[in-house]
Amino acid sequence: MVKEAMFYEKVDGGKVVCRLCAHYCKILPGRIGICGVRENREGTLFTLVYQKAISTSVDPVEKKPVFHLYPGSGSFSYATVGCNFHCKFCQNSNISQFSKQRTEYIPGQDITPEQIVAMAQGYECRSIAHTYTEPIIFFEYAYEIAQKAHDADIKNIFVTNGYFTEESLKAIAPYLDAANVDLKSFEDRFYRRLVGAKLQPVLDSLKMMKKLGIWVEVTTLIIPTHNDSEDNLKNIASFIHDDLGSETPWHISRFYPHYKLMDVPPTPVATLRKARQIGLKAGLRYVYSGNVPGDEGESTYCYQCGKVLIKRWGYQILDNKIKNSKCFYCGAAIDGVGMG
Ligand code: SF4
Repeated sequence: MVKEAMFYEKVDGGKVVCRLCAHYCKILPGRIGICGVRENREGTLFTLVYQKAISTSVDPVEKKPVFHLYPGSGSFSYATVGCNFHCKFCQNSNISQFSKQRTEYIPGQDITPEQIVAMAQGYECRSIAHTYTEPIIFFEYAYEIAQKAHDADIKNIFVTNGYFTEESLKAIAPYLDAANVDLKSFEDRFYRRLVGAKLQPVLDSLKMMKKLGIWVEVTTLIIPTHNDSEDNLKNIASFIHDDLGSETPWHISRFYPHYKLMDVPPTPVATLRKARQIGLKAGLRYVYSGNVPGDEGESTYCYQCGKVLIKRWGYQILDNKIKNSKCFYCGAAIDGVGMG
């Protein structure tokens, strides 16, 4: 369904400037923005993906990954096609890189915001995850779903690349309970070469999310030879610690050859373990390894007494020793929302 877009301004000659994400696309009449799903029709900007869900599923919240919001609960997850990033290592390129396969037809099922919330309720999910592609680019849909979710006492999670503008982030903030934000590298050239974006807007969004009171977790997919240097990992860990706070979880995730990076080998487990030690040494309380089922880095440890609090295997929780948001053994306050 087509709907007039939020956050844009009309400029000279029928052009529009989209202010939804930090690309600030200037779009000529009859053209679309970088995300491939916002179109200038005779001087008015439209979203092409409103109420067009390409994917819906009930996932464990751990799959997002969000480890510090109602651990072990279900998160109703959905997406539309399109993305404002063009990552060469995208895991969902068949639905995210829609602009590359442009047609007049937008794939997806017509599902209203009310129906999304009703499905989340039906499956007894504690949260709705706006995920899989990039929720910023289906903002109008996500915004309405998020409002209705709060009316139904359901939390909202954005799994996002963090490429907000100040105005779009401030608009969704009252409804956004948590976000997992990809901080793919601390080098701007990585963003420019492998993603087609810039680093600084992501850092700005992360800092603003914390100021706005949103629970933030950070994910870094470690890609051999591209972002696995010690300096880069130390810079990410220091930024999270100094600018977001030691309570911010950092998920270090294993890369497998995918999409346009088929010639890069999987991340050695030793690299993930080294990265985890870098995060812990920087003073972060919760550093996790992802995509390595059974690794000790999947579990949550008490930052004060060191005991295992949430024992995980993949997305499964085997045991939770957090009581009233405190460590069962030493009483330290464990950060997050509804931790147990
Ligand atoms: S949301 Fe799409 S059209 Fe708008 S600025 Fe970002 S990439 Fe461009």
